[in-house]
Amino acid sequence: MERIETSGIVLYNRDFREEDKLVKIFTEQAGKRMFFVKYAAKSKLTAAIQPLTYADFIVKISEDGLSYIEDFHQVQAFRHLNQDIFCLSYATYILALADACVQDKIHDAALFAFLVKTLELMDSGLDYEILTNIFEIQLLGRFGVSLNVHECVFCHRVGIPFDYSYRYSGVLCPQHYHEDERRLHLDPNVLYLIDQFQAISFGELERISVKDGMKRKLRLFIDQLYDEYVGIHLKSKKFIDDLSSWGQLMKQTENEESK
Ligand SMILES: [Zn+2]
Repeated sequence: MERIETSGIVLYNRDFREEDKLVKIFTEQAGKRMFFVKYAAKSKLTAAIQPLTYADFIVKISEDGLSYIEDFHQVQAFRHLNQDIFCLSYATYILALADACVQDKIHDAALFAFLVKTLELMDSGLDYEILTNIFEIQLLGRFGVSLNVHECVFCHRVGIPFDYSYRYSGVLCPQHYHEDERRLHLDPNVLYLIDQFQAISFGELERISVKDGMKRKLRLFIDQLYDEYVGIHLKSKKFIDDLSSWGQLMKQTENEESK
């Protein structure tokens, strides 16, 4: 067993036997690992094994058996995140995506840093829907998907209104729209934003602002992309979808009542 100190984010925990828990943590040093916590309710570790806990952990890693948490410190709570059910459900989805996109035990410090930064920005009150979209788009590479939304598949021109083609897995410029009669007829601004999202820096994020109508179009297209190329179905994503239709219902009721 190897004893290491590492930053980590708790992805989830689940009951194991009567009083124990299994806790999955994405560690910066050793990738995603499952840890065994004995008598979880009475353990000093209780506070540190809740989903979304970001802390420094001292752990014993076993390559073939169970790993253990020895101690933790420097717990950072995402306060805002935990108080807003909408924000929290998006954060939960992001954790599930990070869990799904790479194998366990694979060291991926870049993904870890990206996850932490995205959660911090959500917590600071930036638009969680857009942050989620950016996370989804940048994660496509981890799922083995490379998306060309930057230049026309045929003439390689850039910076013009594009449409998307599944046949060519890329964008077509107006001169080459005819190459695919089943092109998506997508709002070109959706593709422009997705292109931005692929390479956006965190500094730029604080200035980005997207209207509700455009957000819905982005959501729809990214859902299509995930269906077509990734094919995972996460419970946390279903929850967001349900929450959003429920949210719409609330807004409608409010409008009707104010009439
Ligand atoms: Zn072209």
